[in-house]
Amino acid sequence: MRAMKSLDTRQRFLFDETHVRGEVTTLCESFQAIVQRQNYPAVVNAILGEFLAAASLLSATLKFKGIVSIQAIGRGAITSLMAECSNNTQLRGIVRGDYQSINDNESFKSLLGGATLAITIEPEGRERYQGLVPIDKDSLSQCLEHYFAQSEQLSTKIKLAANQTTAAGILIQEMPHNSEDEQTEENWQHLSLLLESLKAEEQLELEHEEQLYRLFHEQQVRLFDPEALQFFCSCSKARTAKMLSSLGIDEVNKIFEEQDSIEITCEFCGQQYQFDQSDTSDIFDESKPSVH
Ligand SMILES: [Zn+2]
Repeated sequence: MRAMKSLDTRQRFLFDETHVRGEVTTLCESFQAIVQRQNYPAVVNAILGEFLAAASLLSATLKFKGIVSIQAIGRGAITSLMAECSNNTQLRGIVRGDYQSINDNESFKSLLGGATLAITIEPEGRERYQGLVPIDKDSLSQCLEHYFAQSEQLSTKIKLAANQTTAAGILIQEMPHNSEDEQTEENWQHLSLLLESLKAEEQLELEHEEQLYRLFHEQQVRLFDPEALQFFCSCSKARTAKMLSSLGIDEVNKIFEEQDSIEITCEFCGQQYQFDQSDTSDIFDESKPSVH
């Protein structure tokens, strides 16, 4: 094991002689880059931080290249909240809603209770699939544990924490195995209980290695090298053009009767894309079905 600064990284760990593995992550600059151009209330910032840390952890559990997105679709002050980790290390996220009525004492459940949590996995080049669970628990981690129990049938324990500058997460998961002996079950229960004892401050302040030592110093834990994570928005002029083409040529022409160009701002990163009439005629030419 090497001491490493754990900011904007994720690290895998394994318990020797058990069927349990884990992931631990801390987001700092990437998290700040995602929220800095938005004006979310503090409590919304922190909830988005937990979603981002969770997206980082879940993408590490993929066995293939792809995108994991965790989305809450609500009907309250927050109408939608989404965090995404693509190709394992690129994060982005966004919150939509009306924040006027939100005060600092709101909890996860008061803001998102009754909403639906959608976990979407898009393997590269293959069809995406989605799992849904209701948000009926006190924390995002409990909702995600419910999702794992329901969809993957893998025992999973997650702890998430976030403040205004840092987001952190740790996950342990039972790997598929054939031994159903008592010892295996006891091991899992013991490790879950230990994980439960980790405090939010410790997650946010301690290095990954220190967190693991604090929790599991009696176990044989192997910590792997850190992977770097960063804020990255996958938007482009071409992808934005697709959005425009979905409006239909008539609608787009109507806009050009009133203005010379159409400007679309990416909600995730603030990048502006400008389309004039010649751009859009290209878009609609390309979107014409080819005749065979
Ligand atoms: Zn963007």
